[in-house]
Amino acid sequence: MRSAYDQGVEEKRSKFLHRHMGQPAAVRDSIELDRVKLPRECVRLKVAEAVAKWQQLDGGQKPEPRPLAGGTPNGTYHGERDEDDLEDQETLASQQSQQSQQQRTGPIRDFSVAMPRLSSQEVDLRLLPQQVKAALDFLVAMNPVQVVPDAMSDSMPVLLPPQQEAHRGRRTLVLDLDETLVHCHGQPTELKGASPCPDIFLELDSGNPLMPMVLRANLYVRPFSRRFLRFAAKHFEVVVFTASASIYADRVLDYLDPGRDLVAHRLYREGCTEIAGGHFKDLRRLGRPLKDVVLVDNSPLAPGLAPDNGLLVTSWYGDDQKDVELLPLMFTCFRMLREKSWPEYLAQRYGFRDFLEELRANAAARATRVATQASMVRMQMIWSSTGAVTQVRR
Ligand SMILES: [Mg+2]
Repeated sequence: MRSAYDQGVEEKRSKFLHRHMGQPAAVRDSIELDRVKLPRECVRLKVAEAVAKWQQLDGGQKPEPRPLAGGTPNGTYHGERDEDDLEDQETLASQQSQQSQQQRTGPIRDFSVAMPRLSSQEVDLRLLPQQVKAALDFLVAMNPVQVVPDAMSDSMPVLLPPQQEAHRGRRTLVLDLDETLVHCHGQPTELKGASPCPDIFLELDSGNPLMPMVLRANLYVRPFSRRFLRFAAKHFEVVVFTASASIYADRVLDYLDPGRDLVAHRLYREGCTEIAGGHFKDLRRLGRPLKDVVLVDNSPLAPGLAPDNGLLVTSWYGDDQKDVELLPLMFTCFRMLREKSWPEYLAQRYGFRDFLEELRANAAARATRVATQASMVRMQMIWSSTGAVTQVRR
């Protein structure tokens, strides 16, 4: 049975085909379809598909496939969405300033590049997104730096080769992939505000001959991801470090960086340090001076082994095509070029390590209070059962 999404797409396709039959070349950059503005590449693809289908049904010749704009990993490419065309800078700057303004007033509801220092404004833990809250609870319950101290980390294999000649002397910008640069979902997302079409469809072979399986996924690229990568590649040694498997991550990165000239190194799930089921990105193992390394990630868990080297961004789930989080990130990274020590700058700017320490101290105080109360109640029960007259009052 077809999903509501498929039915909707099919309906729009039929209406469009009916309207533009015979003149697909007339497709403009973007077209208003029943008041749903589709990105131009989606429209083009839908039209090309629809025309091909119609011509086949009508006994006509299947047209030559349209030349693809940016290479395709698996032939199910939807064309390249270049954010340069989507909005003008002025609108984005105003959106960004509105966003920052909202974040300056009221408690912090999520981590983001534009947030103030964590100790300078209240963070309402109850308002944080569920996955952020869970990551913080994990970090508070178990301090990963104590589990993997520096000496142990030093004894583990170094993750990166020496810097390539082209990047010699550059500082290292480590980027997370999922929910930072892209979002991948098994079904086309139907969240409000989402693009109706993913950027690409991925078909991933399980690679297991005993259990052959093809996983299908829809990939959405975060607005300004490519622009950010182009910017970053000019100034830094860019490393993508993901907790995902290489079979998936390589396909996504081949799409984002088809020329393989933006991302210098790729690190996958096996490069992560697993502690109690949590995947940490141990920046101490990169083989680069920590003062010159920053990890941009949407999960507070990832930089848990080097909290002052983490730069946290808001998670993106493909549901906000007006998202501008990567713009302030670009400005922040550019500003950081002037800083001698990145962890010192980030500690002063965001204070993530101090924030975690404060949460741990509060949790320890709470635990002590509970333990004290429990022992007092126990004492009271013992005295009552032995007939002692002393009363313990809380
Ligand atoms: Mg992520």
